[in-house]
Amino acid sequence: MSNKIVLASGNAGKVREINKLLGEHGIEVVPQTEYDVPEAVEDGLTFVENALKKARHAAKLTGLPAIADDSGIEVDALNKAPGIYSARYSGEGANDTKNNEKMLAELDGVAEADRTARYQCVMVYMHDADDPTPIITQGSLEGRIMTSPRGEGGFGYDPIFWLPEQQCAAAELSLEEKNKISHRAIALNALAEQLKKLNHL
Ligand code: IMP
Repeated sequence: MSNKIVLASGNAGKVREINKLLGEHGIEVVPQTEYDVPEAVEDGLTFVENALKKARHAAKLTGLPAIADDSGIEVDALNKAPGIYSARYSGEGANDTKNNEKMLAELDGVAEADRTARYQCVMVYMHDADDPTPIITQGSLEGRIMTSPRGEGGFGYDPIFWLPEQQCAAAELSLEEKNKISHRAIALNALAEQLKKLNHL
């Protein structure tokens, strides 16, 4: 089987992380933007539904096997919001800076111990658009929302996501360091294992 797989994401930060990780498993991942695949509509109510929608959409439009992820951040003090809405948290014209500013404002006055949060990631592989048995894996990374941003690396909420074990913000990790512990790495490594087991690699 071909080891060229379309990646159902145009997010440069994710593409970088996923390419680096799957490259280690000998998989060539081509971002869907290279095939002019437009973003799929993410109207599912779970990370799983959204990842399936994205993978099916990319596989359908390219004829290639597809990998998609759906991820987000759950903040306990916000009843696990923004969750599946993490990319769009600050509404119309949302971007990482505005999302981080909104999160810091929402948590203003919340004590450190109550600022617990986690990144979640669901990864899906579909051999083709009609694949009735997609492979689905999951990973998470525990942390805390800081009170001001730190670091230049990563993307999304990384400048305000404190990692208690590493004693730094996620944005202060190198890509290599983040790839060792991230929710996406955990889900992706599990996916690579499954693909190997099923002789898809
Ligand atoms: P998705 O593209 O629909 O999966 O949206 C994921 C959103 O969750 C991103 O746009 C970020 O806001 C957030 N997110 C997911 N993973 C990470 C991460 O590793 N670091 C920081 N933010 C993340």
